[in-house]
Amino acid sequence: MGASRPPGRRRNSLLYVFGLLREAGGQGENHVANIGFIGLGIMGNAMARNLLKAGHSVLAYDIVPALVERVVGYGAARGESCRDVAARTEIVIAMLPDGPEVEQAVLGAAGVLEGATAGSILVDMSSISPLVAQKVGTACAAKKVQFLDAPVSGGEPKAIDGTLAIMVGGDEAVFQKMEPILKTMGSSVTLTGAVGAGNVTKLANQIMVACNIAAMGEALVLATRAGLDPEVVFNAVKGGLAGSTVLNAKAPMVIGRNFKPGFRIRLHQKDLRNALLAAESMKVALPLTSSVQQMLMALINDGKGDLDHSAIVNFIEDMAGIEVKPAQKKAGA
Ligand code: NAD
Repeated sequence: MGASRPPGRRRNSLLYVFGLLREAGGQGENHVANIGFIGLGIMGNAMARNLLKAGHSVLAYDIVPALVERVVGYGAARGESCRDVAARTEIVIAMLPDGPEVEQAVLGAAGVLEGATAGSILVDMSSISPLVAQKVGTACAAKKVQFLDAPVSGGEPKAIDGTLAIMVGGDEAVFQKMEPILKTMGSSVTLTGAVGAGNVTKLANQIMVACNIAAMGEALVLATRAGLDPEVVFNAVKGGLAGSTVLNAKAPMVIGRNFKPGFRIRLHQKDLRNALLAAESMKVALPLTSSVQQMLMALINDGKGDLDHSAIVNFIEDMAGIEVKPAQKKAGA
């Protein structure tokens, strides 16, 4: 990309003016925007790249300079801090690990709120506690900065393809302004309620995925101990009521002993911890979530925090003293 494009600020301002002109001409749905992007890790890198591919200009920042350079290589401009990115753009997207990083990047010294002007928009796409999302939303409102929480599901492959599921919380008018931009990163973009609702929806998603993987683990361990081939069991059940996207994605990984992430154990532990904290604040008991969160904690302590979350099965295997793997085929069979 970008060899013939003017670099940096000049290109940003030209694209912004062009965007305003197109919007004024009634083509607001597809206008190009001047977007700040903070957090360029596994997900943010691919998402920022899709914004560039869609014709938007991107001003990128991460605390790791090499990650900024990678996105500059796709055609983005280099931001110097979260404050700098917010001061030079009208829309800022953040994709950070967890609540403390979001608070630091938005509310902290040299953060987004030190640079943002009234009327600008901040969209936090990180998976964080809904309580933190609401705190950040309140601080934004005090500065007349519009805020959406918009976590995603789908992982790196869907971030690369631009087919993430995006779950949004916030004001409907702000959602409508952002929807065309979010659709360059996701194929499903849903307003789920007020600020914080996006992260409640994401936590609901993470509870279902984690408990589904754990249940699959118990089922495959039992079948293997009974002398069955887990691959045969998987093929027998996947078309029935137990079939699911999780089963189709994760059972082959477990049976093939491939635990390369994907979605890391430590991130899923963080999500279930946030789910339990949110549940406690609402006096809701989540016994299954609590059990699987403990399994994830034990796996982290066992040095497996950076494995794919399909390795939840390892915890159940260890308790049974057995490994889920295909039956040895007889020679000549
Ligand atoms: P990551 O750790 O790869 O990327 C996060 C980036 O944020 C890092 O590059 C880090 O340097 C940067 N960062 C941290 N603090 C910062 C600060 N104060 N200012 C600027 N940059 C800062 O994580 P990821 O896998 O890209 O995940 C991001 C979020 O998306 C997480 O909340 C995660 O739970 C969620 N998520 C991840 C996946 C996945 O499959 N990886 C899927 C769905 C949702």
